[in-house]
Amino acid sequence: MARNPRYDILFEPVKIGPVTARNRFYAVPHAAGMTNSMPHMRAAFRGTKAEGGWGVVCTGYVSIHPSSDDAPLPFATLWNDDDIHSHALMTEAVHRHGALAGIELWHGGGSVVNRTSRLTPLSPSGTSWMATHVNFMGNQRPKAMDADDIRALLGWQAQAARRARSAGFDIVYVYAGMGYLPYEFLLPEWNLRTDAYGGSVANRVRLVRELLEVTREAVAGECAVALRISLEELRARPSAVAPSEAHEVVTLLAEVPDLWDVKMDSSPTDCPPSRFASEGSHEPVIDFVRKLTLKPVVGVGRFTSPDSMVGQIRRGVLDLIGAARPSIADPFLPRKIDEGREQEIRECIGCNICISSWHDGVPVRCTQNPTIGEEWRRGWHPERIAPAGSPASVLIVGAGPAGLECALALGRRGYEVSLAEAADDIGGRLRFETRLPGLATWARVLEWRRGQLDRLGNVTVYRGNLLSAADILELGNTHVVIATGARWARLLYSPLEIPVGALEGPGVYTPDDIAAGAELESPAVVFDFDNYYMGSVLAEHLARHGLRVSYVTPAGHASAWTIMSNEQPQVHRTLFGAGIALHTLTRVTAFEPGELTLANLFTNAVTRLECRSLVIVGARFASDGLYTALAARTADLGAAGIRSVARIGDALAPGALVHAVYSGHRYARELDADPATLLYRRDAPLPLT
Ligand code: ADP
Ligand code: SF4
Repeated sequence: MARNPRYDILFEPVKIGPVTARNRFYAVPHAAGMTNSMPHMRAAFRGTKAEGGWGVVCTGYVSIHPSSDDAPLPFATLWNDDDIHSHALMTEAVHRHGALAGIELWHGGGSVVNRTSRLTPLSPSGTSWMATHVNFMGNQRPKAMDADDIRALLGWQAQAARRARSAGFDIVYVYAGMGYLPYEFLLPEWNLRTDAYGGSVANRVRLVRELLEVTREAVAGECAVALRISLEELRARPSAVAPSEAHEVVTLLAEVPDLWDVKMDSSPTDCPPSRFASEGSHEPVIDFVRKLTLKPVVGVGRFTSPDSMVGQIRRGVLDLIGAARPSIADPFLPRKIDEGREQEIRECIGCNICISSWHDGVPVRCTQNPTIGEEWRRGWHPERIAPAGSPASVLIVGAGPAGLECALALGRRGYEVSLAEAADDIGGRLRFETRLPGLATWARVLEWRRGQLDRLGNVTVYRGNLLSAADILELGNTHVVIATGARWARLLYSPLEIPVGALEGPGVYTPDDIAAGAELESPAVVFDFDNYYMGSVLAEHLARHGLRVSYVTPAGHASAWTIMSNEQPQVHRTLFGAGIALHTLTRVTAFEPGELTLANLFTNAVTRLECRSLVIVGARFASDGLYTALAARTADLGAAGIRSVARIGDALAPGALVHAVYSGHRYARELDADPATLLYRRDAPLPLT
C-alpha cells in the first residue's frame, strides 16, 4: 500500500550537524538492560529498530569512566579501547539498515554509588541523591569535585567520544539530564559552588558547554554532537532575564550542540505510565526550545499516532519524533506508516513493564511485543515467523491476552486455529480491567490483536462457547491449548509473608466478584498484598462509586511493586486525592461485617477499622481444571487424535499481562520446533583486544 501523503513530512531527511537522518523517526537513548556483556543481543535489538525504519537508533546510557558505575542497574561502558568492538557490533547492525547510530555518553555523578568499581563518587558540591528507591540508595556521599576532577571529567568525555567515533557512531551525546552529573551542575540545590561553575545560570551552564566543546573537538567533524537535557526543574524556576531558567540555559547554549534532545527530570515524569499521563505529556515543558535554536529538536511523548507526530512538527514543537516505548512496542512503526499500514501499528500501552526490566537489571521486556530482547538469543523477529511445522489444527480455549497472542502467532504460521471463548466477547481479564480508572489504554492489547486476527482466514473465533473436556475430545484437534486464566483467592497474609487462611463469608470479595458486578457496601477496605496495580486501582474505582474506602497493605507503600514501573508516586497522589486512607505495614487478621481487625506487620499491635466490605487483592491461582480433566484421559486423547494438551498464560502460572502474552507467543513459536533449539542462546562479552 502507498503511504498517506499526509504523513510525507515524517519522511523528510533531517540534517544533524555533519550527518543526515533519512527521516524524522528517532529512537532515543533508553535503558534496555543489555550491557556490554550482551553485545549480540544488543546489536540485534537495535538493528531490528533500524530495519523497522527508524532514521536514528541510539544506545542506552554508556558510562565514560569507572567513577560512573550504576551496578546493579544495567549500563554500558566505553571505559577503554576494549569496549569499542562491542559497540561496533551495534553500529554495524544499525548502518546495515540505513539508519544513523547515536551514543549517549554518561556520567552519573552523585546519583551513582560505584558499588562495583568502588571509586569515589563525584558531584558538584558533595550532595547525593537520597531517593527512597532501593536501587538508588547508597551509604557513601560523593566527593565535591575540585578543578582537577573537572579537568579529568572533560578528558574522560573526550576520550569516550573518540572511542565512540571509532566504534562507528554518527551522533555523540553529552547527557545533562535525570539527576546525572552535568545536570547536577545546572541546579542550585546540587550545585553550591562558589567558583566559575556555580552561582549564576551562565556559570552553572559552563560545564555542559565545556563538555560539548571537548566532544566536538574529539569527533573532529565526523559525528554530530547532541545535548540531552532535562528541563522540567529549570522551567519551573523564575529568571530575571527570561521566562524561566530553562529559557536562559537554552539561549546560552542555543547553537552549541548540533541537536537538542529535550526531556523531563525524573523517570516517572519522563516516562509516565498511561494510567496517569496521556500522549505528548512533555509538551508544556519543552515546547519553547524549538523557538530558541536553529538546531533540530527531538523529544518524546509516547507518540504512536502519525497524526500526533505530524502535529508536533507542524506546530513547531519538534523536528524529530523521539520514541523509546513506541519503538519497543513496535520496532516497525515507521515502516508501517511508510507503507500505508498505520492501522497495523502495535501501539505501546504505557504500562512501563519495559522500565521495570531496567529496574530489575535484565534485558527489556514488553507487554505488547513479546519478541523484544529475543531477536538474537531466540531468533524471534517482530514481523516474521516460521511457517507451520505440520498441517495440524490447534484449539485454543480462552481468548484472554495469552489465547489471543497464541492464536495470532499460530495463525501467522499457517496452522488451522480455533479460538473458543466462553464469554460473549474476546479479551479475558482485559474486558473488566480496561474499564477501571486509568487503564483504558491497555485495551490496545486486545484491539490490536482483534484487528490482526480479523485478517487471518485460518483462525476462527467462537464466542459464547464454554467448552468442557468432553467437547474438546469431540472436536479432536491435533493440539489443544488451555488459556483459561486464573482466579483471585480469598486468602489472608501470614507473618511468613505467604498467603494463608481462607476468609469466606458475607462482605468478603475479590476482584473477580467486582468484575462479576458485586454491589459493595460502604465503608470498604481493599487489602492488597498483590502489590501491583489491581489493589490501588480498585480502591480508586470504589471511591469513584461513592464508597468510603481505606487501603491496607503489609508493604511499606501502596502498590509497592509499582516503584518498578514509575507508577508509585502518582498512585499515592491519586489515593490521597481520592480521600482513601492508607494503612501500610499492616495485615488483616479477622473480619466480620462491620469491623475489620488489623495487626502491625512487625509488632502485631492490633487496631480495628469500620468496614462492611472487604476486598482481598492477594493470591491468584490458575484456573486449570479443564487441563487437569483432559490430562487424566490419555487414552481418550489418543482416540480423539489429540497429540498434545498444554497450558499457557494465567492458566499455567498467574502473572501480569506481559507474562500471558509472552507465554502465548512462546507456545506458538515452539510448536513443532526442534527440541534442541528451545534453549535460548546465551550471549557473552566479546574477548578483550
Ligand atoms: P490470560 O491472561 O492467561 O490470557 P484471562 O483470564 O485474561 O487469561 O482469559 C481467560 C479466558 O478464558 C477468559 O476470557 C474466560 O472467559 C475464558 N475461559 C475460561 N474457561 C473457559 C472454557 N472452559 N471455555 C472457553 N473459554 C473459557
Ligand atoms: Fe509500552 Fe508497556 Fe511495551 Fe513499555 S512494556 S513499550 S510501556 S507496551
